[in-house]
Amino acid sequence: MKYLFLLALVVSQSLCAQRTVIYCGKLIDVNSLSVQKEMSIVVDANKIADIQHGYIQAAPGDHVIDLKNRTVMPGLIDCHVHVEMETSPRSADNKLKLNPADIAFLSLGYVEKTLMAGFTTVRDVGGTGVNISLRNAINRGLVRGPHIYSSGRALTSTGGHMDPTNGYRQDLLGDPGPAEGVVNGPEEGRKAVRMRYKEGSDLIKVAATGGVLSLEKDGTGAQFSEEELKAIVETARDYGMRVAAHAHGAEGIKRAIRAGVNSIEHGTYMDDETIALFKKYGTWYVPTIIAGKSVADSAKKPGYFPEIIAAKAAAVGPLIQNTFGRAYRAGVKIAFGTDAGVYAHGKNWLEFVYMTQAGMPPLEAIQCATLHAAELLGITEKTGTLEKGKWADIVAVEGDPSEDIQAMGKVRFVMKEGVVYKN
Ligand SMILES: [Zn+2]
Repeated sequence: MKYLFLLALVVSQSLCAQRTVIYCGKLIDVNSLSVQKEMSIVVDANKIADIQHGYIQAAPGDHVIDLKNRTVMPGLIDCHVHVEMETSPRSADNKLKLNPADIAFLSLGYVEKTLMAGFTTVRDVGGTGVNISLRNAINRGLVRGPHIYSSGRALTSTGGHMDPTNGYRQDLLGDPGPAEGVVNGPEEGRKAVRMRYKEGSDLIKVAATGGVLSLEKDGTGAQFSEEELKAIVETARDYGMRVAAHAHGAEGIKRAIRAGVNSIEHGTYMDDETIALFKKYGTWYVPTIIAGKSVADSAKKPGYFPEIIAAKAAAVGPLIQNTFGRAYRAGVKIAFGTDAGVYAHGKNWLEFVYMTQAGMPPLEAIQCATLHAAELLGITEKTGTLEKGKWADIVAVEGDPSEDIQAMGKVRFVMKEGVVYKN
């Protein structure tokens, strides 16, 4: 009994020793869209234990972190990344040359950069399956990176955006099916969702229209029937998975919204009727302005993309920022997403600049990357705001982004679940 008491004492002391008090010169409250001054956050193990006004007295044994000359905010969330890839003129070749282990080693660098840029959570929307293993390795503490919520392989139709065999010799890559994410008809859609569930996907990603960076002619037209999309969404719901739909053209966006997807990615050619549907169904919009700008820039470099891609990138890319502005003014629900991998990982913060350029106030842009993103991912009880009981996912920047959005590129402190990765 005596030993048990001693053991309890030792355990409680070591728990106390894990307390960290963070002094925040400025603190962004993403619920009220306000900047509070001189606040203290108490972190106990991996969670926020308390938040108080003023610089509270630290208890003996508390670890103190001084961010009095920084602006502190919740860990950022990017709802559209590809942790497995980063675009380059070699992208098309890489598909045939890289083994899963090669992809895995490359992806370690991408997620490290992402975390150091202040993104403590990402939603990964498509890869080969390495993304699932990477998520698991990070969760086990084997490698450094953000919390990952991954779709595993994305779903597409034969020849559609993200069909992994587009543009390659048929005898090399054959005619892939649901295992590879290529589905035709509601039955295959259901099977593919169940396969993703078995493999450990957190959500389903579906390509509802053509896309820019695939070796196919049409970058915007609808590529699934509404019936197929409905089968995918309904099956995903059975397994507690949400659905993100890549869509550029209006017809594909409308079909996906009516089928019940949770978010539309890119949404480039949304018209007034589409905007009304977004609002009627409460569908989230994930803009990825930076991806559009980045591919349009790369398309200007001779030989960077195959010709079939360059033409689409130049046409579609520059339009997204304008679409974002219209959607924002119309009151569409917006969650932050960048398509990292389509540009260099770690530059995700530039999306904040482009969002504010298009008319969104800085604190609202930060709300899109915290509270709203957590709502889209269904993880508000864990993260997205700085509140008692949530994960201690905390970042701090030099300067005040509510006054100058460029501050989002000056991340000086990153804590994920109570562990400091950058200070
Ligand atoms: Zn993408």
